[in-house]
Amino acid sequence: MDELPFDIKALTFFFEQLWMHTSDPFWICRPVGDDFELVMANAAARKVDERQVPGGTVRSIIGYGPESEPLISGYYECMRTGRSVTFEQRPVLNGSERLFETLLVPVKDESGAISHIWGTARDLTRFLVAQKALLNLNEQLETKIRQRTTELEEANRRLYELSATDALTGLANRRRFDDVMREEWLRAVRAGAPLSLIMLDLDHFKKYNDHCGHQEGDECLRRIAEVLQANARRPGDLAARYGGEEFCLILPDTARSGARDIAERVRLCVEEMALPHPLSTHGIVTVSLGTATLSPGPADNPSSLLSMADRALYLAKSEGRNCVRQAAFQDI
Ligand code: GH3
Ligand code: MG
Ligand code: MG
Repeated sequence: MDELPFDIKALTFFFEQLWMHTSDPFWICRPVGDDFELVMANAAARKVDERQVPGGTVRSIIGYGPESEPLISGYYECMRTGRSVTFEQRPVLNGSERLFETLLVPVKDESGAISHIWGTARDLTRFLVAQKALLNLNEQLETKIRQRTTELEEANRRLYELSATDALTGLANRRRFDDVMREEWLRAVRAGAPLSLIMLDLDHFKKYNDHCGHQEGDECLRRIAEVLQANARRPGDLAARYGGEEFCLILPDTARSGARDIAERVRLCVEEMALPHPLSTHGIVTVSLGTATLSPGPADNPSSLLSMADRALYLAKSEGRNCVRQAAFQDI
């Protein structure tokens, strides 16, 4: 063998000092079957784990739990590749979790076979505390983000509610009416179910406004809206202000006779409310209603139901007002 380029005695002395006085654990093992027997361990290694004494095996010291896997697979990798390996391990020692960065170095004999494995570990437990604090912070942040997202969704929902609500009456506005009409239309097509629509218009409302003033007119619209809302009894029913003094009631899964009964009930409720209207035929506020019912097919569209209901309403107006008229075609 060539002469070593340094003083072996001095080197041995330095290694001895390192071995004895370093605070990093050092140990040497040798492969025995599928386990590794500890040949030497320095004081620092014993300080970390007092079971690290010569004669013990890695398995007998660290056991078979999931926390011992990184170390034992590190040994196997070192044996398989013949190269040094570095990995993290988190053993629980004296009841508390520790973090080590472990280095295993294969020591080969003259034939090139691995006769020993030399190991050392750096104690990084102090970083574990910081890492845990960071993870905790991250979790808190995620919780906050989730909370904020929920709040934002709620705010968006309320914003939509606002943008979909008629400010005067609190009923669904035209925009919402159009949305729901489209949704219910598609649902009716899918289910092959009838869809009914009632259109309501106040009788001689211009005169009411002229005589009682716009504020009274507004109040009157609110009262009519309440009646309509009270008669939208099923969860899918929707009372909406279509515009001005015209209102609509969407009645999913409701046949023609059902729509007529509900329209008549609304008319009667308004009549019984008996809001004074000195310039009308009956001396009270009345409403005219047109109903339409369709079992929509995929080729139709919601506007056909609207124009049917509108025509029926026109009929109610022309046939004396304060009455219900039904669209003539397609009985269900
Ligand atoms: P008809 O019986 O034929 O329906 O007659 P009408 O007078 O009710 O119908 P017309 O379309 O001539 O008048 C509707 C009136 O509704 C005119 C308008 O001043 C009133 N109106 C529409 N929107 C509002 C509102 O938001 N508040 C008030 N106070 N009045 C409204
Ligand atoms: Mg009108
Ligand atoms: Mg009117």
